[in-house]
Amino acid sequence: MTDHRRALPGPAPGEALNLMALTCGELAGELTRRYGKGSYHAAALYRGIFRQGCTTWEEVPGLRDSPVLLRRLTADVYLPDCRIAAVQSEAGVVKFASRLGDGQIIESVIIPAAGRTTLCLSSQVGCRMGCRFCATGKGGFVRDLRVEEIVWQVLAARFSLGRRVDNLVFMGMGEPLDNFDHVIQALRVLSDQRGLNIAYRHITLSTAGHVEGLARLKAFDLPRLRLAVSLNTADEALRSALMPINRRYPLDRLKAELRAFPLGKGGVILIEYVLLAGINDHREDALALARFLEGLPVRVNVIAYNPGPQKEFCSPSPEVLRRFCAWLAQEGVFVRARVSRGQGIMAACGQLGASLGRTPLQGDNQGGGAR
Ligand code: SF4
Repeated sequence: MTDHRRALPGPAPGEALNLMALTCGELAGELTRRYGKGSYHAAALYRGIFRQGCTTWEEVPGLRDSPVLLRRLTADVYLPDCRIAAVQSEAGVVKFASRLGDGQIIESVIIPAAGRTTLCLSSQVGCRMGCRFCATGKGGFVRDLRVEEIVWQVLAARFSLGRRVDNLVFMGMGEPLDNFDHVIQALRVLSDQRGLNIAYRHITLSTAGHVEGLARLKAFDLPRLRLAVSLNTADEALRSALMPINRRYPLDRLKAELRAFPLGKGGVILIEYVLLAGINDHREDALALARFLEGLPVRVNVIAYNPGPQKEFCSPSPEVLRRFCAWLAQEGVFVRARVSRGQGIMAACGQLGASLGRTPLQGDNQGGGAR
């Protein structure tokens, strides 16, 4: 197994050529501007890094015969100094922690299923949304991930851990729309057909309801990108208590934004509902949810709460989960109960970051939560 660490030498960021943050077209432009080279060398470089997982320049087919370019690249290209710090697995689910260049740690999860493998990506170190049922939210916000740090997680899964990656879900640490520019550029890199080639229809971006981010996302032409919303209740007061972002973007604003969101033909919005025993699992909660979703093209995933280190909430029984889904189905809602995997290694929904031992940042999530 090759560790997809930074084997390629290079300079610090700044004037550097930040290869993992560029599409192939953008790379070609840089090669032209810097060295008078163009699409041919860009395609070779891109293929070598993103498709073949090359870890030395000499390995990149098509560059061996260009010693001057090799020297320039060695001097100019910046690759993120990320390393896999820990790997845990349980029943096929693999959680890996990555140590970033500044020592911060993020977690990503590989989830194999019949015929496909999904990688759950982080978009931030920590999260400032402060959802009360989420271990990442409890730990507070540290910083946004850079484009190359988002992309690196996919390369690590593919080439260091040797897993195929068919689908991506931005459901790891962080609120992706709170790191908008970097996530959008990462999407462009990840979907580039000359590189990783993960089509938008295989990428799900999950938001806690960041209305401004959704409005910005509308302006981009990404109709096949799949959208998920972590809703968890349609009761205004309860949602504000569970998810501080609701104080800034209340349910009526969220619904208006979802109504206006451009979905591709037959596209649906995935609604995620974490079921918390005795909190949001009553019949009235199901009815309120069904009412809120009226007029929206949605599918609902109900998932039993996965306990973290804090025992603030309890997981509902399988019977309560089944009954809640049945109430929704009676109201005509397309719903399914989702099974959590990787709970034993704290890799399941809402558990990421729980084992990193960061001290919660006092006050970071107060005063309206999302920014
Ligand atoms: Fe952040 Fe998502 Fe956790 Fe909420 S659920 S705190 S948005 S990572």
